[in-house]
Amino acid sequence: MTGRSDCIFCRIAAGAIPATIVREDEHTIAFRDLDPKAPLHVLVIPRGHIASINDIVDDDGPVLGALLLAARDVARSEGVAEAGYRLVVNTGAAAHQTVPHVHVHVLGGRDMSWPPG
Ligand code: AMP
Repeated sequence: MTGRSDCIFCRIAAGAIPATIVREDEHTIAFRDLDPKAPLHVLVIPRGHIASINDIVDDDGPVLGALLLAARDVARSEGVAEAGYRLVVNTGAAAHQTVPHVHVHVLGGRDMSWPPG
């Protein structure tokens, strides 16, 4: 497979382990979170392995833009765009990033409290 065999999200991107995919394009894949924290909880990931926002480089601009465009589309197709939703990118230990492959959480379907935990 392409990607890292030791990375769970690379394995999802490669189709090596199952996920409920809701959207795909050249740069990104969006799938439902296994342990949803809101009625809508989708993860949008780059196909290529990037461990965290700390690891992005200038050349990643197109793929990072594609992540937000994909998140916008997911919010629309899942019906939360008008009501509002939250995008979260946990980065590093203090933010409780548990999977070291960049992912944008798309959370919605309920009132999102602020400030976040
Ligand atoms: P984070 O804590 O920001 O790194 O978020 C990682 C997210 O990935 C969590 O919300 C997990 O529930 C989710 N997750 C982990 N493994 C899988 C998987 N195989 N399929 C879908 N979601 C997953």
